[in-house]
Amino acid sequence: MRRSSIQMTQQVILEAPDLARLLTLLQTQGYRVLGPTVRDGAVVLDQLASLSQLPAGYIDQQDSGRYRLLRGELPTFFSHGPGPQAWKKFLFPPRQQLFVAKRRDGGFAVTAQSEIAPARQAFLGVRACDLQALTILDRVFLGGDYADAVYRARREGLLLVAVHCTTAGGTCFCASMGSGPRAASGFDLALTEVTADKRHYFLVEAGSERGLALCRELGCAEADDVDRAAATQLVENTASRMGRRLETDDLPERLQASPEHPRWEDAAARCLGCANCTLVCPTCFCHTVEDRTDLSGACAERQRRWDSCFTLDFSYIHGGSIRPSPRGRYRHWLTHKLGTWHPQFGTSGCVGCGRCITWCPVSIDITEEAAALCLPAAETSSRKDRTSP
Ligand code: SF4
Ligand code: SF4
Repeated sequence: MRRSSIQMTQQVILEAPDLARLLTLLQTQGYRVLGPTVRDGAVVLDQLASLSQLPAGYIDQQDSGRYRLLRGELPTFFSHGPGPQAWKKFLFPPRQQLFVAKRRDGGFAVTAQSEIAPARQAFLGVRACDLQALTILDRVFLGGDYADAVYRARREGLLLVAVHCTTAGGTCFCASMGSGPRAASGFDLALTEVTADKRHYFLVEAGSERGLALCRELGCAEADDVDRAAATQLVENTASRMGRRLETDDLPERLQASPEHPRWEDAAARCLGCANCTLVCPTCFCHTVEDRTDLSGACAERQRRWDSCFTLDFSYIHGGSIRPSPRGRYRHWLTHKLGTWHPQFGTSGCVGCGRCITWCPVSIDITEEAAALCLPAAETSSRKDRTSP
C-alpha cells in the first residue's frame, strides 16, 4: 500500500478526476483560478469555475503563421501548446487605470489606482517557458529601485501550478533556450500528465511550503518508481521532438556585430509592423501612458496600456520617431530580445515559447532570422531566394 506522508522532494499521484478537487481547494482558499480554456478556436487563458472549462481532448498544430486547434485521441487536459495569450496579462494588464482626477471646489480631487490587486490569483497549467518568462518579468517590474506597484501586488499573492510539457508544440524551442520542457523551479506545484496502461493521472511535485500543504490537503498517495519513470520519459521525449532550436552561443556578440547585415532588410520587407509578435510574447513589456478627459472637462483619467516597439509612435521623441523604418524597428526588437537583454536583465529576453512565430501573419520566424544573421552577409540568401523553385 502506498504511503501518503509527503516531503518537498517527493512526488505524489493525483488521479485525473481529482484535479477537480485541487481546483475546488484553491477556490475555497480564496484563489481566483486562471488557466487554459477554448475560445474562438484557440486555447486562451481565463478564469476557471470548473474542470469542464479546461481544453480536455484538444491538441493543436502550430507552424510559422499557422495555428489549428483539433480534437486529439486522448482525454488529456494539457496536450496543447502555448496559445496566443501569455500569463503577463494577469500581472501587467493590457489596460490599467493609474488615477482619476475630478473637478471639485475649483481644483481637482485625485483618486488613486482602481483595483491594483484583485482577489488572490492561482495560475493552473503554467508551462516551463512561461515560468521562466515570469522570472524575467519579475526582474523587469520588481528589480532596481522602482518596483511597479500593480505588478508587485498581483505577484505577491500568486500561486503557481506548473505543467511539465509532454507534447512539443510546433513552434517551440524551449529546450535550446534552457527554459523547458521541464519546469525547474519557481512553482508551488508541478504536474506531469500521464496516460499509460488505461490510467490517466498526474505526477505532482511540491515546489514550496504552500504546494506541500496543498498536497497534504489532497491526501495524495506517494508516487513509485514506475510512475516517476513514465513521467520522466514523457518530458524527455518532448525535449527530443522539438522541431526548432536557437543557437545561443555568442549570439549577443554576433548580433552586436551585424547592424548592417542585409538580412535586416529582408525581414523588414516582409514585416507588417502589426505588433502581434510583441503582444503574444510572454516577456515583452513595452507600454505607454495616456490621458483622457470627458467632453465636459470635469473628469480626467490616466491609463497605462500595452504598446509595442514595432509602432512608429513608440520611439517618438521631440521632432519624430528615432526608429522610422521597419528595418530599424525589427532590428531593435530582435537585438534587444536576444542580445542587449542580457546586460540589462541578466538573461535572454526569449524563452523559446514560439508564440511570435505562430502568430506572425507573414511567417517571420525568430529562429530562422537569428540563424541567418549569424552567417556572413555573403552566405545569407534571402528567404525569397531559398523558397524559389
Ligand atoms: S521572442 Fe517569441 S519565442 Fe521568444 S519568448 Fe517572445 S514570443 Fe516566445
Ligand atoms: S508579427 Fe510579424 S509582421 Fe507583425 S510586427 Fe511582428 S514580425 Fe512584423
